[in-house]
Amino acid sequence: MSEIDEKVFAEDAADYLPVFSRYKIVLDHGEGAYAYDVDGNKYLDFLGGIAVNVLGHAYAPLVEAISRQAGKMIHCSNLYYTEAQADAAAKLVKLSGLDRAFFGNSGAEANEGAIKVARKYAHSLDPEKSQIITALGSFHGRTIATLTATGQPHYHEGFGPLPAGFDYVPYNDIDALAQMMSEKTCAVMLETIQGEGGVYTPAPGYLEQVRALCDKYHALLIFDEIQAGIGRSGKFFAYEKYGVKPDIVTLAKGLAGGVPIGAFITTEEAAAAMKPGDHGTTFGGNPLACAAANVVLDTVPQPAFLKHVEKVGSYFKAQLLGLQQKYPALIKEVRGTGLILGAELTRPGRDIVNDVLAKGAIINCTAGNVLRFIPPLIITEQQVDDVLAKLDDVLPKYC
Ligand SMILES: *Cc1c(COP(=O)(O)O)cnc(C)c1O
Repeated sequence: MSEIDEKVFAEDAADYLPVFSRYKIVLDHGEGAYAYDVDGNKYLDFLGGIAVNVLGHAYAPLVEAISRQAGKMIHCSNLYYTEAQADAAAKLVKLSGLDRAFFGNSGAEANEGAIKVARKYAHSLDPEKSQIITALGSFHGRTIATLTATGQPHYHEGFGPLPAGFDYVPYNDIDALAQMMSEKTCAVMLETIQGEGGVYTPAPGYLEQVRALCDKYHALLIFDEIQAGIGRSGKFFAYEKYGVKPDIVTLAKGLAGGVPIGAFITTEEAAAAMKPGDHGTTFGGNPLACAAANVVLDTVPQPAFLKHVEKVGSYFKAQLLGLQQKYPALIKEVRGTGLILGAELTRPGRDIVNDVLAKGAIINCTAGNVLRFIPPLIITEQQVDDVLAKLDDVLPKYC
């Protein structure tokens, strides 16, 4: 351990709010799919800052756009117009087929905004139409409303009283949703693909049936694509893959390639309920974040880029299935699509993640026992082989 490591670990232990259980490396810089620590150790980064670094580290056009914008103006508030923000909104509206975009600074804020739009719109139809239904095992953020929307009771404990009007159903269970819904349902909010909860894709037909129920009860369908969007599924929006269009979609993580940003995009009909003064943000959609988003929005939706995600994702999944055949007692199931993949283990995954880290690759474990792979979208098949070889090296110890 170097002097810098020791200093950083000691300062963090003394001064930082202890809410993260971190891996013991101090990261310093990166290039492409590789990250380097302060001691010069190199890691193949298959977490990508938790699905954020979609273009990899230090992607030159992104660095250039951010530097250029920072040299001109970082921030000016939403009391004025900027070309960067207007362009980013226009791109999102065009890509989504929806009508109006709004920018915040994070995923939680994007979901907060979507919830506010849904509540305000439903209120205009019927003041008692306020129920928001989300899925068990979902993850929607850490603010009080979004942690309430998150269908995992352990995130709620100790933070009550929580806002009223949230109910939960098992994901992929259309009968449970049908039973829960009524004319009092304001919105159904789902991750198109569940990420943090363990990488679960929608069952065939599920999202269509959810859409039909929302139409029946005049409820809005909100897709949280904060993790699964921005090309990760092989389509720019994961909902395109399943042929179901939401009324509101939320984005964050990869949207500006690492610069903090969040967005929701909504139909004109729902947007019309929002009047001047109903929502706002100081930082959200500032020219720096939007200049970065514009690079992502000019790059990721290109057919060749998305085709790469689909191709390398299929290869990755096939290799993971191969690993499962080799370690059937250890790997229970391989799930996911594109570059949001999971391998559910029959044991906790943290030690395995640590062992792979020691071999020079950053991978992740979520929900306790699901190895989750949400790498930069620019990874190659060779890099997939490298990471899986490291995993293959450490797995025998756990059999
Ligand atoms: C990460 C995530 C969020 C929260 O985003 P933050 O930027 O951490 O607030 C919300 N929903 C999903 C699906 C996520 O993966």
